[in-house]
Amino acid sequence: MSYDILVLGGGNAALCATLMAREAGATVRLVEWAPQHFRGGNSRHTRNIRSMHDAPADVLTDTYPEEEYWQDLLKVTGGQTDEKLARMAIRHTAGCRPWMSKHGVRFQPALGGTLHVSRTNAFFLGGGKALMNAYYRSAQALGVEVTYDTEVIDLEMEGGTFRSATVIRNGAEEKIHAKAVVIACGGFESNLEWLREAWGPPADNFIVRGTPYNTGRVLKALIAKGAKSIGDPTQGHCVAIDARSPKFDGGIVTRVDCVSLGIVVNKHGERFYDEGEDFWPKRYAIWGRLVAQQPDQIAYSIIDVKSMGKFMPPVFPPLKAGSLAELAKMLTLDPAALEATVRRFNDAVRPGTFDHTIFDDCVTEGITPPKTHWARKIDTPPFYGYPLRPGITFTYLGVKIDERARMIMADDKPCANVFAAGEIMAGNVLGKGYIAGIGMAIGTAFGRIAGEEAARHVRS
Ligand SMILES: Cc1cc2nc3c(=O)[nH]c(=O)nc-3n(C[C@H](O)[C@H](O)[C@H](O)COP(=O)(O)OP(=O)(O)OC[C@H]3O[C@@H](n4cnc5c(N)ncnc54)[C@H](O)[C@@H]3O)c2cc1C
Repeated sequence: MSYDILVLGGGNAALCATLMAREAGATVRLVEWAPQHFRGGNSRHTRNIRSMHDAPADVLTDTYPEEEYWQDLLKVTGGQTDEKLARMAIRHTAGCRPWMSKHGVRFQPALGGTLHVSRTNAFFLGGGKALMNAYYRSAQALGVEVTYDTEVIDLEMEGGTFRSATVIRNGAEEKIHAKAVVIACGGFESNLEWLREAWGPPADNFIVRGTPYNTGRVLKALIAKGAKSIGDPTQGHCVAIDARSPKFDGGIVTRVDCVSLGIVVNKHGERFYDEGEDFWPKRYAIWGRLVAQQPDQIAYSIIDVKSMGKFMPPVFPPLKAGSLAELAKMLTLDPAALEATVRRFNDAVRPGTFDHTIFDDCVTEGITPPKTHWARKIDTPPFYGYPLRPGITFTYLGVKIDERARMIMADDKPCANVFAAGEIMAGNVLGKGYIAGIGMAIGTAFGRIAGEEAARHVRS
């Protein structure tokens, strides 16, 4: 069977490419490894897209100009980003919402008191799952052929030109030919062996927040065939999540949001980082790596009753006790060690006016690490604890692309008919670090560009 365009993957980037290519008149076949009821990859877990805007628009308040967005990205990546591609993704977010709405996506205001992002991020009504369902519905209406339960295992390329993909469906191998291919099958975050290669034994204690289908098989095949890789395999988005989460696909509800309100200790009952460095939404992406560096990759967020109600409760209830010693026992910590840490911390807390919605003046003095905001004594029972593990969201190792989303080969030449979008090329923009909502910005921008360019290639 032959098509104009073959799209590999079934998440946001794949569907954006599919819809654009189909709208441009190309015949499109989409191949998704997951079964229909698990379609949509990590995209179905998302909640929002970071969007630039020069005036209040839709659900977005105030303004978020290109330059501020770019500076935010520059800061978190420490300059490890391709400015041209990054600015393309940023600018794209200013104009993509009407197109998204045309395909059935609806927006809603940010949830109050959770993330401080009503200015910067447009939330999807019904979350990423509703967004993905809307896109699939639209693709179906436009006559796109979608195949589920089908794993892409290899690509046939001749001198940088794509010929066909080999897939496995119902246990049988099949080749699908197309004039162009868009590769949008995620990173390698659910490949536990590959994570172990990159991280060593600590990876065994990682929890994969999203789909189990993003194993990086196509990424590995592309690199073996001479695609130019970009990014470091140990870089990615990794947050602290509840240690009781399932190994895969727990999604957003397993995140623990009270870290900045209390203290975090490791398995020896010792603090190891400034919990009040920045607002939780901005800093939460570093805590996965911090926990990964602790012995046995486990940590515990400890708060007292004063913090309850000031953060979005995760799906697992906290462990609760009338005394710190009792809580320590429930968390399998040494009670004396936890009590000593809390005593040192409490002694170091200086008087201030607590306000978790701003950078307040509640700080510690004379301890290492310090707590530079929202430092309050942990002294009022009941005490609460959440066990934390590193939760990997997605990896940044990917393939290099150009401004037309064409995949670049090791000789620095672009492939004429191979395009990449989403997580598999996110490393072009994200060398390290993360700002909330940029994953969907990258996938939407380069998914749409890839679809448009693939259709243009076919026409020419
Ligand atoms: C819990 C969670 C919450 C998140 N929240 C947000 C958010 O609010 N905003 C934001 O911007 N980002 C968020 N992200 C990140 C975001 O999900 C990704 O950046 C984005 O979804 C990437 O889109 P994608 O299409 O590249 O990948 P995915 O959506 O993961 O899609 C990859 C697809 O490829 C398929 N696939 C993989 N391998 C193969 C193969 N060999 N053959 C065939 N198909 C294959 C998978 O089944 C899947 O359908 C979140 C991630 C998680 C896990």
